[in-house]
Amino acid sequence: PSQEHEVTRRELERVSTEFWLFIRSELNKLKTRTVESNVVKIVNEILGDSNGYQKTLKNHFYELENKVDGAGAWRYKESQKLGDLVQRRLTYLQNPKNCESAKKMLCNLGKGCGYGCQLHHVTYCLIMAYATQRTLILQSSGWRYSVKGWEFVFEPLSKTCTTTMGQTSVRWGPHDQIKDALVVEMPIVDSLVPRSNYLPLSVPEDLADRLIRFHGDPSAWWIGQFVTYLTRPNQFLKEDLETSQSKLGFENPIVGVHVRRTDKVGMEAQFHTLEEYMTYVDEWFDFYAQRHPNVQRRVYLASDDPSVLSEATKNYPHYIFVSDNEVSKTAGLSSRYSDASLRGIILDTHLLSLCDYLVCTFSSQVCRVAYEIMQTRHGDASRWFKSLDDIYYFGGQNGHQWRMVQPHEARNGDEISLDEGDLVGIAGNHWNGYSKGKHIRTQKSGLFPSYKAVDKIERVKMPTYPEVPD
Ligand code: GDP
Repeated sequence: PSQEHEVTRRELERVSTEFWLFIRSELNKLKTRTVESNVVKIVNEILGDSNGYQKTLKNHFYELENKVDGAGAWRYKESQKLGDLVQRRLTYLQNPKNCESAKKMLCNLGKGCGYGCQLHHVTYCLIMAYATQRTLILQSSGWRYSVKGWEFVFEPLSKTCTTTMGQTSVRWGPHDQIKDALVVEMPIVDSLVPRSNYLPLSVPEDLADRLIRFHGDPSAWWIGQFVTYLTRPNQFLKEDLETSQSKLGFENPIVGVHVRRTDKVGMEAQFHTLEEYMTYVDEWFDFYAQRHPNVQRRVYLASDDPSVLSEATKNYPHYIFVSDNEVSKTAGLSSRYSDASLRGIILDTHLLSLCDYLVCTFSSQVCRVAYEIMQTRHGDASRWFKSLDDIYYFGGQNGHQWRMVQPHEARNGDEISLDEGDLVGIAGNHWNGYSKGKHIRTQKSGLFPSYKAVDKIERVKMPTYPEVPD
């Protein structure tokens, strides 16, 4: 390690120790105060200094992550190199020399849900196609977002093989029932029987070590590669995206905010005020401003609720809000599923994925799509988000587990007791130092301190595509 690395590391150790000494001493002092003393004032002082400590730690981490020993540049290069390999493998899989004899997988785009949900449906199909070495055939005619189908906006999934050529298909089933079939048809992921190890959040064993080395959320990066392959814009869309980007005044640095309202609120997610989102936008820019004091604060605002933009411009005059007005006109329940709304949602997910940070609700597939694509554009953007509700997940995924690295003794009815090494099916992060999970051994659900567990990454043997050079 370089001198810079060693100095920064020592500062991290020193400041985090000081941080703990400070917290312990202040809280001990608080115990002995009389009730009359001004607790609010004291607590605010503690919070202020804690924030200072946290910011200092973050700055050191930032240096280590990005500057010291060229780590940031290395991470970016590695992500691009590995991403390129996955893209070439997909191109190889999708372009068999002989379509007639090629094994195929059939996927129908007509899942009854929104764009993000449908895109994730096709993503799941392509992951399964990759893992079983079958060329994916996408049936997209009559698509609710465009009568002209997938290729109205995206590149075809293949140049050589885009239909089943009239061959009969067999529905997904047990391995020996489908292994010799020329065409296997995929159901929606919720009806997949038997389930498969290939499903997210698994990552392929042959790439896992490289991937885990540079990326903090290997599954999201892996899924992002499939979303990226699927949404390669055709010439028409490419020009449209480029023109729109510059016309709207989209410029980095910029924070992406996705406010999902209308039909989602009350049904699948809670209502969040614009203020909640903006708190995290402010935090991001405050941190950024330490290194770039004169930064113009800019937000890319995407929403299905047109009233959010006027509220934003009115209440946050020192921000520039970049937003696609067309979207506001075409969003909303009634007109969602038409060619016009297709353009809006593609532009929004595209521009959100180009942002430097995302503030949104991961309960929405729109933001998860943007986050996934974002991963493929950088070295490690796995921490470039603030979700107001869920942790990252892929709809229909296999159980996501964490492994306890320290035991935990439940202190109240909300918590669960766990031993070191225990597995927990992770249900969510309460974003207050606690996570919620289900103890796999006892099937009990409850809270535990987040620092006592680590993510368990599922590695699965998948084809290694030796025909495609590394
Ligand atoms: P989810 O319901 O939020 O999980 O995501 P889906 O993509 O499955 O369905 C929501 C649909 O609402 C989207 O596909 C869009 O058609 C529309 N929508 C939601 N948020 C936005 C947005 O920010 N911009 C645009 N243009 N459309 C949106």
